[in-house]
Amino acid sequence: VAMTLDAATSALYQDIVRRNPAETEFHQAVTEVLHSIQPALRRDPALRDARLLERLCEPERQTMFRVVWTDDSGAAHVNRGFRVGFSSALGPYKGGLRFHPTVNLGVVKFLAFEQIFKNALTGLGIGAGKGGADFDPSGRSDGEVMRFCQAYMTELYRHIGAQTDVPAGDIGVGSREIGYLFGQYKRITNRFETGTLTGKDLDIGGSLVRPEATGYGVVYFLEAMLAKRGQTLDGKTAVLSGSGNVAQHAIAKLQQMGATVVACSDSSGYVHDPEGIRPEVLAEVKQVRRRKLDAYAELVPSAEYIPGKAPWNVPCDIAVPSATQNELTEADAVTLVKNGLIAVAEGANMPCTPQALQVFQEAEVAFAPGKAANAGGVATSALEMQQNASRGRWAFAETDEKLAATMRDIHDTCLATADDYGQSGDYVTGANIAGFLKVTSAMNTLGL
Ligand code: GLU
Repeated sequence: VAMTLDAATSALYQDIVRRNPAETEFHQAVTEVLHSIQPALRRDPALRDARLLERLCEPERQTMFRVVWTDDSGAAHVNRGFRVGFSSALGPYKGGLRFHPTVNLGVVKFLAFEQIFKNALTGLGIGAGKGGADFDPSGRSDGEVMRFCQAYMTELYRHIGAQTDVPAGDIGVGSREIGYLFGQYKRITNRFETGTLTGKDLDIGGSLVRPEATGYGVVYFLEAMLAKRGQTLDGKTAVLSGSGNVAQHAIAKLQQMGATVVACSDSSGYVHDPEGIRPEVLAEVKQVRRRKLDAYAELVPSAEYIPGKAPWNVPCDIAVPSATQNELTEADAVTLVKNGLIAVAEGANMPCTPQALQVFQEAEVAFAPGKAANAGGVATSALEMQQNASRGRWAFAETDEKLAATMRDIHDTCLATADDYGQSGDYVTGANIAGFLKVTSAMNTLGL
């Protein structure tokens, strides 16, 4: 339900836009939260005391640095690296690193801001941060990626630590990159401090279930959301965007629960297969061959590759946008609704535009916002930190059950909070208010 900003919040928002020019994604993420916390601000005016809102929207730290590396021909390249520590009220800064040519300060700040509420919802004592670089890994050799990671960590190491700031992966950063980053961290600091990075391979202190966690978590959330409506995933048709870590494991879990995933995508186009996308083939195409999805259609005869298009015109019951921000537009939402969509779960961060979200809400489609639905990744990172702190390792089933319980808990918290604030069934409002109350309560406890 669309809400209007009161005068004081509106003035604050104008000020944020003025002081952070051109950071459109950051503005978008802030305005969504400011709108949806209005019922909480009305109920408890003390939530404005001590400039709580102003403090919440101003990052504690923003670091930008030069990254110089050499390609295989010996030529030097210059990239820009970032790390933003947005909020440490609930724990050390926590959030991924994104390596993608579109990365800039505004993008990193939007992602770090989202992370505040997401991480708060997990209930696991993690603050919020994000980082990355405008490095484009596509077409780069393993050696080039390694040298880039080493150059990046040569600056980043002085800003991070198990009790300070704990990076992980995001777009363009998987366990290979985390391994190279950790290797350089260890080399420079002379410390095998596993708790400094998460998303590590098992042989250097990683956690079971962390690779699967974001995708599985999205599906656990979907399962709970459908159950509320008296439905299950069994027999449903799903379309995903993306074909990376989140998409692969979401597809596997959806199929385990009886759904058929008929399409997924990458930056080049999408593949459609009425018989169901095969996640193990996706992993081969993406992680081993490092190819675009045309290679998928070469390997699977029943699949058709459609270049240059998003997958949202393929009819489905469930849409899981798992690629990147603002990838699903108003026109896409209208098409999906017309084709009989019943639920959306955001596997990526802010993949639906505000206009798309409005279309879904007006059509009463069940909608799970990213900061709730994809929190399973960072939640399992927090479990990896727990295992690192105790030098222990938990079994797959045990870790998976903790993840599933966390997702059910986040689901129930969002629903109960939305209900409490007169917005029944609105998971966006529920997630934002619940995360907001949790982090501002800690900020008050800590004092100015
Ligand atoms: N990049 C992921 C996210 O958007 C995971 C971050 C983490 O594990 O720290 O939440």
